[in-house]
Amino acid sequence: MALCAICNKQSRGFGFKPPTQRVDFLGAVAQPERLPNMAQKRFCSMSCQAIFYELFIQGVSVNKTDIEIKAEQSVLMPLGDYVASIGLDVPLAAYSKEQIEGVVSTIVTSYHRELQRLTNDEIPF
Ligand SMILES: [Zn+2]
Repeated sequence: MALCAICNKQSRGFGFKPPTQRVDFLGAVAQPERLPNMAQKRFCSMSCQAIFYELFIQGVSVNKTDIEIKAEQSVLMPLGDYVASIGLDVPLAAYSKEQIEGVVSTIVTSYHRELQRLTNDEIPF
């Protein structure tokens, strides 16, 4: 199963197929070699599909690595705060199930919050 092109969750039937031709405002067809070389993308949700589409129509090259790096970096501070709240002397192997779930929740929530902030995912209605 393919992963979401935005968040790396398991894709769930949402997709984006790059256009095979682009017509400019005068009706001229762009040369095929000028179209971005892009494979079909898959997404986990309409939100991730919308993020990708918004970047695509803005002509922003989806440099997932840059977005991912920033989103990953945003996790460090909340994760540090969470771990400190448990106790810096407590090894990860000694965490309870609820504490491990808290780690996962902190990472996922922080990552997605930053991802949405970076992509200005605002619904216009
Ligand atoms: Zn996704």
